[in-house]
Amino acid sequence: MSFVQLVQEYLPDRPRGPGEQSEARPQLSTQLYRCGACDTTYISEEMETCPRCDGPVETTPTGRDLRHVDP
Ligand SMILES: [Zn+2]
Repeated sequence: MSFVQLVQEYLPDRPRGPGEQSEARPQLSTQLYRCGACDTTYISEEMETCPRCDGPVETTPTGRDLRHVDP
């Protein structure tokens, strides 16, 4: 069973300005990465290795379309 873990260190920590409406949407520049060893999915802008086991992660570009992360 897999689950999604948010990697919050990549989230922007700035207030939204009037000209930044496009950035109000999540997952605009982030992507889903999955570590097969941990069976864990991460949401990050860029990730090459798993922060848990330091193993390779694979991208999951279909995540936003499949809406698997819906609450
Ligand atoms: Zn891992």
